[in-house]
Amino acid sequence: MSESIIPVSEAVAKTALVDEAGYEEMYRKSVQDPVAFWGEQAKRIEWIKPFSKVKNTSFDPHNVSIKWFEDGTLNVCYNCVDRHAETKGDQPAIIWEGDDPSESLTITYRELKDHVSRFANVLKAHGVGRGDRVTIYLPMIPEAAYAMLACARIGAIHSVVFAGFSPDSLAGRVQDCDSKLIITADEGLRGGRTIPLKANTDAACEKSPSVETVVVVRRTGGDVDMKDGRDVWYHEVAENVSSSCPPVEMNAEDPLFILYTSGSTGSPKGVLHTSGGYLVYTSMTHQYVFDYKSGEIYWCTADVGWVTGHSYIVYGPLANGATTLMFEGVPTYPDASRHWQVIDKHDVAIYYTAPTAIRALMGAGDDHVTKTDRSSLRILGTVGEPINAAAWQWYYDVVGDGRCPIVDTWWQTETGGILITPLPGATALKPGSATKPFFGVQPAVVDANGNYLEGATEGNLVITDSWPGQMRTVYGDHDRFVQTYFSAYPGNYFSGDGCRRDEDGYYWITGRVDDVINVSGHRMGTAEIESALVAHSKVAEAAVVGYPHDLKGQGIYAYVTLMGGEEPTEELRKELVQWVRREIGPIASPDLIQFAPGLPKTRSGKIMRRILRKIAEDSFENLGDTSTLADPSVVDNLVEHRMNRA
Ligand code: ATP
Ligand code: MG
Repeated sequence: MSESIIPVSEAVAKTALVDEAGYEEMYRKSVQDPVAFWGEQAKRIEWIKPFSKVKNTSFDPHNVSIKWFEDGTLNVCYNCVDRHAETKGDQPAIIWEGDDPSESLTITYRELKDHVSRFANVLKAHGVGRGDRVTIYLPMIPEAAYAMLACARIGAIHSVVFAGFSPDSLAGRVQDCDSKLIITADEGLRGGRTIPLKANTDAACEKSPSVETVVVVRRTGGDVDMKDGRDVWYHEVAENVSSSCPPVEMNAEDPLFILYTSGSTGSPKGVLHTSGGYLVYTSMTHQYVFDYKSGEIYWCTADVGWVTGHSYIVYGPLANGATTLMFEGVPTYPDASRHWQVIDKHDVAIYYTAPTAIRALMGAGDDHVTKTDRSSLRILGTVGEPINAAAWQWYYDVVGDGRCPIVDTWWQTETGGILITPLPGATALKPGSATKPFFGVQPAVVDANGNYLEGATEGNLVITDSWPGQMRTVYGDHDRFVQTYFSAYPGNYFSGDGCRRDEDGYYWITGRVDDVINVSGHRMGTAEIESALVAHSKVAEAAVVGYPHDLKGQGIYAYVTLMGGEEPTEELRKELVQWVRREIGPIASPDLIQFAPGLPKTRSGKIMRRILRKIAEDSFENLGDTSTLADPSVVDNLVEHRMNRA
């Protein structure tokens, strides 16, 4: 497929932190002498006791151990809140936009310090201390950020569970880390509908004996049961505590949080991140990747229930004293213009979202976008999946009016922060490519035997040395950590993703390596076929998987969601097969196309391919863990209309 190149925008480059030459120079230094580089960068945060040792890491599968700044001490909350409250107390720290367009709130750094300190005192009053696990099951309200930061303030370890998860998913995560306290709300509110968070919590508690206290934030005022001796209203207990709470001195390697991965490839893992390295890394990436300028309004549309919300709504931006926007609702409520209206309402300069949202909003039609102003926008970003060239181009042309660079950021829950990404003033863009490594990140491409491949090539994406934001272990299961990430290609961190590197050294993530299919001996990334399908004007979304095929080994099975108003006809099915043939070649023609009104997605918007694979194989009785699906009912429809009845 042809590749277009979009040169660095001169307007952006003029004021950017680094230009092209600056990036090359700084990158070279960062990998030649990581100790000097990160020792210097770590000064962006305030340490209580300075570290004497920068890096102590080993990827040796017999002894995987990752430590950064190990003898330094700090408090993460102090760095995100107090130091800015002292120097710019009146600046908004959080702008909160409610589900209902008439509701919004601004919280300054001074106010944030009060809220967080009070929250911390409530936790302390209920016996939470250093090292204790606290589960946070809250909607996108400011209290979610207060609660996370309150934990960090007193050295407790938070585990945020997305507020759309079922009682079972919540219970599994509470039990895995033995939380003794859950913070929830009466109800959540999304797209005008309420979610019974307290009732879900009650159900989860029945299976979770470790829980001693449930702190309930009042959001909607809906009716809930309160269990005597266990449940307390936040607004009541908060009245009886002081608004001052000293931040605790923590070691750089003390745990900051546990976050369970979305489970699109297996059962969720409790990814553990620690304090010093994580904060240095999220702060630095937030500043450089988004070219963040003091005073700008920055909006990441993720939920705090997944890592993007942790690193790029809360910790990174607040460590930098930024103004971070937090949105309670969904992109299509009250209508598909909502995001663009929020951008105009709050003068958002930086907008960071996921391909799934971009495709949905693209499907809703350009009018929703073009009727808004969006002139405040300067930088656009995407994360979560490979973004197909058609969606990228739409995002660039229609949303950004051809003015705003798109940073396509590749990273994972495990990596803590962004690893491969353009920098707005430094990197010419290629639609669909995450481009180049961030400072200090050393990606490599290996073949199935672990040989490093040079130059333009394709294979498995590994990282050859540690970076400060890397996860330290799987909570309670270090063996699983070693097995999952360090055993396939000894000496390297294996991402599980495949990628291509082109002649300019640009990286193109082709999806998870499990998603490569082998058709008559030809290996193909499913992402490429999906990308071709989505380029058809009638297709809104597509997911491709392999299934056993007598002649070819594997056949190509495509699930296709059409644009609103399009009819799923036999003719269109044939047209799509022809289309893919023309776009990629006969080898890529789908054998089966199933029209699907919806695809099974995780809460973070990712397609759960292992379920699609099972249905394609006609073995749908055992679909595995589906508790993390956003809408489990879409599966029934897919099973009912499956195309392969073996
Ligand atoms: P699980 O690990 O439980 O299966 P998950 O991998 O979906 O869940 P995340 O850590 O949120 O959970 O997602 C990371 C993955 O998302 C990456 O490994 C990659 O496959 C994909 N990804 C993220 N950003 C990009 C991007 N910019 N381009 C391509 N793929 C991306
Ligand atoms: Mg993963």
